[in-house]
Amino acid sequence: MCRHLAYIGSPLPLAELLLTPGHGLLTQSWAPRRQRNGTVNADGFGVGWYAPGDPLPARYRRAIPIWADPSFADVARVTTSRGVLAAVRSASPGMPQAESAAAPFTQGPWLFSHNGRVEGWPDALEGLAASLPTARLLALEAQVDSALLWALVLEQLAAGESAPDALGQVVSSVAAVTGATLNFLLTDGTGIAATTAGDTLFWRNGRGSVVVASEPFDDGPGWHEVPDNSLLTATASHVDVRPIPNLTKEQVVP
Ligand code: GLN
Repeated sequence: MCRHLAYIGSPLPLAELLLTPGHGLLTQSWAPRRQRNGTVNADGFGVGWYAPGDPLPARYRRAIPIWADPSFADVARVTTSRGVLAAVRSASPGMPQAESAAAPFTQGPWLFSHNGRVEGWPDALEGLAASLPTARLLALEAQVDSALLWALVLEQLAAGESAPDALGQVVSSVAAVTGATLNFLLTDGTGIAATTAGDTLFWRNGRGSVVVASEPFDDGPGWHEVPDNSLLTATASHVDVRPIPNLTKEQVVP
């Protein structure tokens, strides 16, 4: 499974968030400490971030390990942002190893990442896929479970659901039809919504900022572990964690 991270707060260089911490995403790509499934996250990476005065995020993705891209290290040193979502990928069996399959996925102001796997992909999601407008299916970026999950989340957002409700709905509707690990991260640059369903998640806030990450990127104090099957919402000043609604005991994943 992948490792991912979202940040909201005062502007920070991307490198300070992702590359220089002792156990940041760079280190997690070859030596994650808390990952429940998989060993290395070397099948690509992606970073989305917000620049001043622009509500639409910039996105940088590659199909190579994050450690193999010295150009990203250079850019990350001088690029600062107040909102970031990044992921290092371990492709699930049978899924393509391509830049287009690497998180974050994006549309409008949103950045989305999925840490996990849908059992029985793609057949198991046939019914849910059929519920989507054809145009949304045709616009899928890659033949990967995460891209379809993103389309399902987008459909909820388009219907007017809030970010946490959209994530919660998709977790419960997927869990109702198949086994799956569904740790999601979603941000619009001002708030973060996340789910835990089968893998680890932690948060830490301080001095007007919040980080939500698959695992702590340092051994400092202040990290809180999120229980499994939770829905987290966070702004720079407030974090709320509650159970995912409508997830019955039989549906609890994995
Ligand atoms: N299933 C997704 C993929 O193949 C996410 C994988 C993961 O969390 N490792 O990209």
